[in-house]
Amino acid sequence: MASAPGGGRNGSPIDSRSMTTVTLIPGDGIGPEVSEATRRVVDALGTGISWDVHDAGVLAIETHGNPLPPHVVDSIKNNKVAIKGPVTTPVGTGFRSINVALRQELDLFASVRPCKLYEGVPSRYDEVDIIVVRENTEDLYEGIEFEMGSPELDKLRGFLKYMYNFPIAKDAGVSVKPISITATRDIVAFAFGLATKHGRKKLTLGHKANIMKFSDGVWLETGQKTSANYPDVEFDEMQVDEMAMYLAWIPGDLDMVVLPNLYGDIISDICAGLVGGLGVAPGMNLGKEYAVFEPTHGSAPDIAGKGIANPLAMMLSATLMLRHLELDEDAGVLERAISKVLRERKVIPADLRPNGQPATTEAITNAVINAFDSGL
Ligand code: NAD
Repeated sequence: MASAPGGGRNGSPIDSRSMTTVTLIPGDGIGPEVSEATRRVVDALGTGISWDVHDAGVLAIETHGNPLPPHVVDSIKNNKVAIKGPVTTPVGTGFRSINVALRQELDLFASVRPCKLYEGVPSRYDEVDIIVVRENTEDLYEGIEFEMGSPELDKLRGFLKYMYNFPIAKDAGVSVKPISITATRDIVAFAFGLATKHGRKKLTLGHKANIMKFSDGVWLETGQKTSANYPDVEFDEMQVDEMAMYLAWIPGDLDMVVLPNLYGDIISDICAGLVGGLGVAPGMNLGKEYAVFEPTHGSAPDIAGKGIANPLAMMLSATLMLRHLELDEDAGVLERAISKVLRERKVIPADLRPNGQPATTEAITNAVINAFDSGL
């Protein structure tokens, strides 16, 4: 079985000696509960990691008037590595999403989601083990947008009509989709590096270049050219709608996929669904210098404070972090312990459809720690 990812840009190892302090952002909602559970299991491994803890999100708005105070970013810049619980995206407050802000301020250009089906997790499939690599900076998520009825959009509409006879409806809003050679080359090279490091056989690039010739066209052509530098990993390309069909039909046929921002967002959530849902889906955002590890799920306000949040996605994110820090042995112990807990189904998290009472966060955490020394 190919290993799960973790690694610097181009998948290269990162010097771990300067990284024994990790920034921990507990987040809000269930964030502090799953973060504390994760901190407990990592501490129980005896890794020697020390934690530089900072609030962000709703809690930081209350204490600092800013969801992402500068000292949080400074801490990550200093420590190079952070692990983060989910944060609630403030709606209607004028604050930008802290996840987007972190990506921009730390140039975290790659989002990686390993989607692996563990035995004991209910799923429609027998085996799924796909790594989704998503470009994190461009595309329709770059934030170049024109509001319906705004004077800016009126000007743009007039310009496009006058210059190119392109019509834009009066009642339309507009988002712009830039895709550059530079960002595409970076993410595709990164994906090949990760594939090489983790023994993945095939990288599939998803696109819609038949429709969006000048944005996805750049993505496809640059991806194809970049693939020539990596003859040891098989490369193919697939239209993203076809990829969605294959994922629903025979997900075992895909090994690793690389996608632009929007498709990557959607496909990585499809893949999380294939392997049992958000409660077991870890993630990481990587840049040239910094790495931020986090579960895929959000702050789950509906169950916050009830003590039943599933901490396994954040613990699996910690395994990725440990590999990134070249603590491979600790990462292996933690992943095998999580795998044992899932396989045995003695404690079953709320989101994994227990027949009876869902296990508490604390019971799951204890079970993982107990599995460390049970002859894994
Ligand atoms: P969510 O992931 O928080 O919750 C969706 C459903 O899954 C809920 O029913 C929830 O109870 C359940 N769930 C999620 N994680 C769980 C866990 N670990 N254990 C058990 N059940 C779990 O998604 P949402 O409700 O759409 O978002 C809530 C907030 O989180 C929003 O403000 C959103 O913007 C934010 N969010 C943050 C991040 C992040 O910080 N990376 C990611 C996604 C959403």
